[in-house]
Amino acid sequence: MSDKQIIYMDHAATTATRPEVVASMLPYFSMQYGNPSSQYIIAQKNRSAIEECRRKIVNSLNAKTGNIYFTAGGTEADNWALKGIACLYERGHIITSKIEHHAIIHTCDYLKKHGYDITYLDADENGIIRPEKVKSAIRKDTILISIMYANNEIGTIQPIKEIGEIARRYNILFHTDAVQAYGQIPIDVDECNIAMLSASGHKLRGPKGIGFLYIRKGVNIESFIHGGAQEEGLRAGTENVPAIIGLSKAVDVSFNTMQERIKQEVKLRDYMIERIINEIPYVRLNGHRIRRLPNNVNVSFQFVQGESLLVMLDMDGICASAGSACTSGLASPSHVLLAIGLPYDIAYGTIRFTLGYENTLSQIDYVVDRIKMHVAKLREKSPQYEDFIKGNT
Ligand SMILES: *Cc1c(COP(=O)(O)O)cnc(C)c1O
Repeated sequence: MSDKQIIYMDHAATTATRPEVVASMLPYFSMQYGNPSSQYIIAQKNRSAIEECRRKIVNSLNAKTGNIYFTAGGTEADNWALKGIACLYERGHIITSKIEHHAIIHTCDYLKKHGYDITYLDADENGIIRPEKVKSAIRKDTILISIMYANNEIGTIQPIKEIGEIARRYNILFHTDAVQAYGQIPIDVDECNIAMLSASGHKLRGPKGIGFLYIRKGVNIESFIHGGAQEEGLRAGTENVPAIIGLSKAVDVSFNTMQERIKQEVKLRDYMIERIINEIPYVRLNGHRIRRLPNNVNVSFQFVQGESLLVMLDMDGICASAGSACTSGLASPSHVLLAIGLPYDIAYGTIRFTLGYENTLSQIDYVVDRIKMHVAKLREKSPQYEDFIKGNT
């Protein structure tokens, strides 16, 4: 396996850091090591470099006001947005959805334990959270709406503008977990009335362990990490300068190449979906066919254990994911697949492929050929499949 070429199709789990991102970071480990809070010139240079990164990211979100607060990743940004608003109130109601990432769901579970009311909205069969459902969940004591921009498992892009419009009409803060969307598709926070937005470096070719929370000007939020005056005292601790520089470089490249990448990824994605649907029987595409991240292919193979298929693909050097990285290894299928109404046995047969710019048409052909072969083999050994075929003849 060591000398075999790896075909990486798990870009929603993480991405390889771009070489130019790594290069941009290196001087900040060695020459430019100053603490941005120190007074001498070499340190102050780092301070202004970080401020430049903030401005660049604010611009990438099309935000007229507000600021970027660096965190140790998407999970921290999500935790902060929810807990930082909740703790301004003694009680309160939060609206979120059943298909959020665990960084949101488990934080909401925690807040629920501490006396807050949470509404976990259903998604429809395509994974869309209907704006009318958000609207009818609003109560007098609703303090926050948190709905993800795009789903990490099935790739569905939410009607964020419509949900933001409802939040505006009822004057409720709107947070979005945009970890899967940011750097992949265009985002306009002002147009969508987004008050807070979470993103993460390693999902867009930046380093791991760095992310940010965008907070619109005028939004009051409790400090998340107490200590020094960094990040306006809201998230204390010496800045991770190399990671911030790397994230900013990744943002640069991602936005400069976005349109081209979207075109290429959509072409590969649709080709892969078509081949799988047309050439393998008893398959289901999960997620919305059109409102979908450019790089997401999520399919369920009936009469197949996704985990077994994953192991066979791994032997071929192919990296994909069963449901989501966070749920694999656990006995129960992904909460997202159950929320969109998949029965257990179908949910168990699910594999997610998420493409990146390294992937080629010939890689996709190879991967689909291998899937076809493995699925046929696994079905041969499946008693359910045997019963099904007998029943059909
Ligand atoms: C990966 C991911 C996160 C967590 O981000 P980390 O930087 O890995 O902590 C949160 N939300 C979504 C939708 C994600 O895909």
